[in-house]
Amino acid sequence: MYCKGVGTKRADTLRKELGVVTAMDMLRTYPYKYTDRSRFYKIHEIEDEDTAVQIVGQVTEWHTIGVGKAQRLSATFTDGSHTIELVWFRGVQYVKLVKGIDYLLFGKPSRFNHTYNFVHPELTPMSKVTPQMVQGLEPDYGTTERMKNTGLNSKAVRTIIAGLLPDLRLGVPETLGQDILDHYHLMGITEALINVHFPKDTPTMQKARERLKFEELFYIQLQILRQMKRREQNEGFVMPKVGTRFNTFYQHHLTFELTNAQKRVVREIQADLKSGHQMNRLLQGDVGSGKTLVALLCALLAADNGYQTCIMAPTEILANQHYDTLTTLLSPLNCSEASSNLSPIAHVALLTGSTTKKERETLHAALRAGEIDILIGTHALIEDEVQFANLGLVIVDEQHRFGVAQRAKLWAKNIQPPHVLVMTATPIPRTLAMTVYGDLQVSVIDELPPGRKPVHTLHYSIQRKVSVNQFLIQQIEQGRQVYVVFPLIKENEKLDLLDLQNGYNELCETFPQYRISMVHGQMKAKDKDEQMRRFISGETQILVATTVIEVGVNVPNATVMVIENAERFGLSQLHQLRGRVGRGADQSYCLLLTRIELTKETRRRIDIMVATNDGFRIAEEDLNLRGPGDLDGTQQSGLPFELKIASLSTDGQLLEVARQAARAILDQDPTLSDDYHRIYKRRLDLLRLSVANWSEIS
Ligand code: ADP
Ligand code: MG
Repeated sequence: MYCKGVGTKRADTLRKELGVVTAMDMLRTYPYKYTDRSRFYKIHEIEDEDTAVQIVGQVTEWHTIGVGKAQRLSATFTDGSHTIELVWFRGVQYVKLVKGIDYLLFGKPSRFNHTYNFVHPELTPMSKVTPQMVQGLEPDYGTTERMKNTGLNSKAVRTIIAGLLPDLRLGVPETLGQDILDHYHLMGITEALINVHFPKDTPTMQKARERLKFEELFYIQLQILRQMKRREQNEGFVMPKVGTRFNTFYQHHLTFELTNAQKRVVREIQADLKSGHQMNRLLQGDVGSGKTLVALLCALLAADNGYQTCIMAPTEILANQHYDTLTTLLSPLNCSEASSNLSPIAHVALLTGSTTKKERETLHAALRAGEIDILIGTHALIEDEVQFANLGLVIVDEQHRFGVAQRAKLWAKNIQPPHVLVMTATPIPRTLAMTVYGDLQVSVIDELPPGRKPVHTLHYSIQRKVSVNQFLIQQIEQGRQVYVVFPLIKENEKLDLLDLQNGYNELCETFPQYRISMVHGQMKAKDKDEQMRRFISGETQILVATTVIEVGVNVPNATVMVIENAERFGLSQLHQLRGRVGRGADQSYCLLLTRIELTKETRRRIDIMVATNDGFRIAEEDLNLRGPGDLDGTQQSGLPFELKIASLSTDGQLLEVARQAARAILDQDPTLSDDYHRIYKRRLDLLRLSVANWSEIS
């Protein structure tokens, strides 16, 4: 298709960089912001670097520095009451300044030292400013480096789209049904596309964007919910019985009462297990909320009905710990009644990368013979030789650590897919739960076991290290243990390890009287386990680590979590780390140490951590600060689809509405085969949205 201003080279760049092939694709490339050219600023009103501003004023003084290529022009601009610096590094010889006349200054301020300046601003004498230049909203389009290299900057994109306007005005086919447009008071597609690019005014621009956001979210929900409906038809193993294993454990092995939240979740899962349909459930619960116990109860239900369970954990440390926890809980020694039965309630086995070949062979055989009820392990579980007699339930701990393909292999380990429970301690904001995990049922443990004292979180700048050390001594002298965590960022692993090693050495010097363990991701599993073991058993008082300890480790006697260079961690990571303490009866502390002058965003992160222990609130804040693509839960995989206009951080309400609308249609017509719904089906086929399918069997 022919577009004004787009030759083959530019067409190629547009296709590669933005996926734009047709004129319609171009129209669906939305501005990410608008500059209000009708607003005039005063210098003192400048607030941030992101907003382009225009100011009327005069140039009072200027001088050049350096010669030739290094030449630089610096000018002082005044709006009558304040002044600001203008700087040119390039094309200095073309800048002609005149004193005593009014200019219109337009550009993006840059922060420089503690003030702002303008680098290469547009400076137009007021006599040459036309009314069109200073009216309405000017769209800004996102561009990539490559685009800029072929001259495709925001202004060029604007020009291309402006060239399409006459055709657009003739009308484009509607993509939503009239009933939806009416019911939700949405703008028609033609008007919306015109006004998203060249809005008449702010309210019209907002209506246009709302319509386009709605449409985007609506189709994603339609796809997700259709998938979910389809899957609800999948048959699942029927597990109606609550038998002796579950009951014995519940009555005689549990030394504490389940929290109400745990009870509710167990009931929800139980209902799924006996429904005859395959369960796909996400269990969310903050660190320490007692998910492991829920997992165990479910495994016992499966065992009571003659099915095996496997529990997959992301790290060997965690798998070992689950294994220890479960064997202890199930052991006859843990039974409150004198029991004549000397065998455990259920047989648990462990399979990790460290399991020897010989152990494996025995284990494989026992598994096939159905002598093992619960198999716990790492990725090693997925391997093809691992075959079950009758796998009925798969539990994945900290699911975001696994890829889709890895999970899918587990699903395929029985003739029909087992029930699936995925557990996560990373709270997922509602909007993400509805999209990324939208096709899963969700259970939430929103209550901690009683008697937990909230962790006190304190922020220290590195200058106050001495007080921090004194505090550590005081805690250790009371018999407590301490974690010290260093950030590990993949791009710079070597440097980070050096940091860790230095930190370790420094601690050894500062605390010659204490024993110190160290673990990091580059260590051999055996060494890592040995170091962990020493800390867990209390042999060492301090554990220096990278984030390998982030998930799951449980040492109730550890009461202090020191996070070095806390400014380099994301919010949910900080929260996860903090969750390692506060697991026993003693008051726990999380000390956030920062080194450098904090940016506004870092300061905000630290403040949130100090202010709240609520994982859901932190997750929401994280989403707001970073945007969904960077969230821990989705980091590896990224969002399965790209949002062109809607935002999961700010459009939560619209998302709810769009989901409702999609659900209403599917409730009437699950396969979208009514004539009236053909428009939706066609568009879904066209969009080919790749939404996550959490139970996909490959
Ligand atoms: P997480 O949800 O982080 O996996 P865990 O399952 O490791 O949490 O539980 C944390 C600790 O709380 C464990 O020591 C566990 O035994 C204990 N716990 C779990 N449920 C309860 C409860 N209802 N009452 C008291 N303690 C509990
Ligand atoms: Mg856990």
